[in-house]
Amino acid sequence: MLKIAIQKSGRLYEDSIKLLKECGIELNNGNKQLKAAAFNFPIEVYFLRDDDIPQYVYDGVADIGIVGENVLLEKNKNIDIAYRLGFGRCRLSIAVPKAVQYNSIEDLRGLKIATTYSTILQQYLNDKNIEAEIHEISGSVEIAPSIGLADAICDLVSSGSTLFTNGLKEVEVILQSEAVLSVNKNLTTEKRLILDKLLLRINSVKTAKNNKYILLNAPNHQLKNIFSLLPGMKSPTVVPLVEEGWSSIQSVVNENDFWDVIEKLKQFEAEGIIVIPIEKMIV
Ligand code: ATP
Ligand code: ZN
Repeated sequence: MLKIAIQKSGRLYEDSIKLLKECGIELNNGNKQLKAAAFNFPIEVYFLRDDDIPQYVYDGVADIGIVGENVLLEKNKNIDIAYRLGFGRCRLSIAVPKAVQYNSIEDLRGLKIATTYSTILQQYLNDKNIEAEIHEISGSVEIAPSIGLADAICDLVSSGSTLFTNGLKEVEVILQSEAVLSVNKNLTTEKRLILDKLLLRINSVKTAKNNKYILLNAPNHQLKNIFSLLPGMKSPTVVPLVEEGWSSIQSVVNENDFWDVIEKLKQFEAEGIIVIPIEKMIV
């Protein structure tokens, strides 16, 4: 049995549960309990505060955990990252009041900076050779400058709207973060095997999301051009149409160059292009 810790409630909860579901793992009960066993996969889910997850994984109370990389780095435990999950994206940034003139990191010298991320911030300032006073607080960091508690803050940002409404501007980005699958370093062979199965599933879910299945018709004299755009998983499938000189082509396109490929396909006389989401993709 593999024990996985996820956030009990908060920004990572929904996506963590969704990921397990997409991996075909069904849980017996909701997050009202501390833990829930899956009935079709040897895994048990622990619902915890995100700040506690690195310690639990480090101690082996949980074997693996889904947590923001920002929290993992702040807690600074000796834990591996097995997979970058692509949700919970944010950045850890330094912000100062809008009216303050800011030219470079030198302007932080001697300032009082409020944060809940004192480990990461201290490391960053050390690396940049900047001496500043770090004022560690446990929450509502964004109001610290307006109540006179600090000159600047270091906090998580996603859209920047919280900074904006508090009259702050982002001046340095310390870290780009996303949710990661963290793993205890001393898993037993049995647990490692379950983890490998889980990783195969996560990977197939994520790869599927990054790709689309595409079907189209094209005149045969354009097939070579079209194949050069659609490498597919091995190579594209081609089926002749009843109409002489035409073929139907099936392939897989990466989300990143999707629109680019579609435009070029049209230039190569492709017609009736159909795009279908892929549920799982095992390469
Ligand atoms: P808990 O009650 O579990 O301690 P929390 O309030 O500390 O919850 P959340 O605000 O739910 O934590 O954020 C959890 C994680 O979501 C963060 O550590 C970060 O990795 C990620 N995240 C993504 N965008 C943001 C954002 N704009 N602000 C804060 N966290 C964000
Ligand atoms: Zn927290």
